[in-house]
Amino acid sequence: MDIAIIGAGAAAVALLDALDPSDIRSVTVFDPATPPWHGRPYQPDLDSVLVNAPPEIMSIRWGDREHYARWLDGDAPAGTHLDERLGRPIPPRAVYGRYLVDTAEAALARFARTEVVDAAVTGVSLADRPTVRTADGRRYTADRVVLCVGGGAPRDGYGLAGAPGFVADPYPLRRTLADVPPRSDVAVIGTGLTAVDIVASLAARGHTGRISMVSRSGTLPFVWQRPVPTGLRYLAPDRLRSLEGPIGLAEFTDLIRRELADHGESWDALAAWIASAWERGPEASLREQLALVDAPQLGRRIVQEAAHTAGPIAWRLLRARDRERLRGRHFRTITSVASPMVPRNAALLLELFEAGALEVLPGIEKIEAGSGFEITHAAGVRAADIVINAVNPPPHAVPRAAEPLVSSLLAEGAVLDPDGGLAVDPGTGRVLAGGRPDRRLHVAGDLAGGGPFLVSGIPGVAAQASRAARSIGGVRSR
Ligand SMILES: Cc1cc2nc3c(=O)[nH]c(=O)nc-3n(C[C@H](O)[C@H](O)[C@H](O)COP(=O)(O)OP(=O)(O)OC[C@H]3O[C@@H](n4cnc5c(N)ncnc54)[C@H](O)[C@@H]3O)c2cc1C
Repeated sequence: MDIAIIGAGAAAVALLDALDPSDIRSVTVFDPATPPWHGRPYQPDLDSVLVNAPPEIMSIRWGDREHYARWLDGDAPAGTHLDERLGRPIPPRAVYGRYLVDTAEAALARFARTEVVDAAVTGVSLADRPTVRTADGRRYTADRVVLCVGGGAPRDGYGLAGAPGFVADPYPLRRTLADVPPRSDVAVIGTGLTAVDIVASLAARGHTGRISMVSRSGTLPFVWQRPVPTGLRYLAPDRLRSLEGPIGLAEFTDLIRRELADHGESWDALAAWIASAWERGPEASLREQLALVDAPQLGRRIVQEAAHTAGPIAWRLLRARDRERLRGRHFRTITSVASPMVPRNAALLLELFEAGALEVLPGIEKIEAGSGFEITHAAGVRAADIVINAVNPPPHAVPRAAEPLVSSLLAEGAVLDPDGGLAVDPGTGRVLAGGRPDRRLHVAGDLAGGGPFLVSGIPGVAAQASRAARSIGGVRSR
């Protein structure tokens, strides 16, 4: 069997690592990014650009939680990159990129014939054997094609492209921040994890000008707590899989309530605390959360874990109107609990707030470019010399580099999921074409539609890659 993999980021590495090589004659991987295997997040960058999760959450090998931790142990002496509050190593994302490179190279060595083609794929036609077309006009045929093209880049929601001083896509920060004068007045659009990366990196470069994070909600990500086993019961993925849908949001909330009650904790109290956390102001809230990194209560850890593990299953069981409600009213809160910032970054942000060097401005209305920028927000107008975009694309967005490819698939009978991404069969990751799962075409990563609105982290991507490997012909035995 000949396999074509489009995209050479984390999902592709997980897939290569998972595939059983016995029935595979050749593997061809396509990606214009050089060097390959880093994807968008894990390319060489400043040391202040950190991974967002502890090692047990970032194994690229589905079913082996320790795979990355073992690599990390072999890569640097114990204690390197330690986030002391978390009690876990949190290395720069470029270090994780080296892990992906090592894993990809070891995986590729298992196949008889491999090639990495440094070109974007612009189309796939499905007649007889699928044919993959590249931007430079080459054609490759394969038996199975897997799309691993990642998510999109930040959106230019305020029409600022081309304005002097506007940074449309912040990564890699070592390049985009190099032109930011240290005393300049900087506004970062967004308050999510990308915005946290930008602020931490400005601080690491010794920025002395004012920094503002401006967004609609003004809600920062919560702060990681030390990971401890939660032993999910009511929210265990297998238990949810056994439920008959559709279920209502109230019913699902009741499962969360029972899960927490099992540990002697109250969901209603936790939900009220979460809802009001940022009303106390970013300084007070960060201080409070840093004090809770070690707290024994499991409630927030349970909700965070369940958002990623039970969430995708529950999402499909929920009624459409409840999904809409979650997406509309609770998107920001759920994202900020599910994908928290690491304590080291939280402590840094708190220092900047305390020193008066950083502020959060909610209620952003518009940004106008002239000589510099004017940002209208809930409490007034703020001027800035530099505006850096950290507005993440909607979940399951089609990356710009994959738009021609996706258009070609739509012409072949594939369809878009109404909630974004390509419609796929949830059990196998096969693309639905002509109304049926097409066994020649799979998706691993954020382009797979039908899931909730959280961007897939490494465990989600690794799970999808393993699902695609199983559907293609088998997962290698270890
Ligand atoms: C800034 C950032 C930081 C993150 N940090 C973490 C973290 O610390 N922990 C965590 O668990 N998750 C994190 N995530 C979530 C992240 O989505 C996954 O970790 C992971 O990178 C997704 O892998 P992927 O292979 O799907 O996409 P990517 O890693 O983005 O790789 C996609 C690849 O496809 C290529 N491509 C696109 N279109 C084409 C085409 N037409 N032809 C050929 N190639 C194409 C791109 O060039 C790219 O190399 C982060 C996400 C972002 C955006």
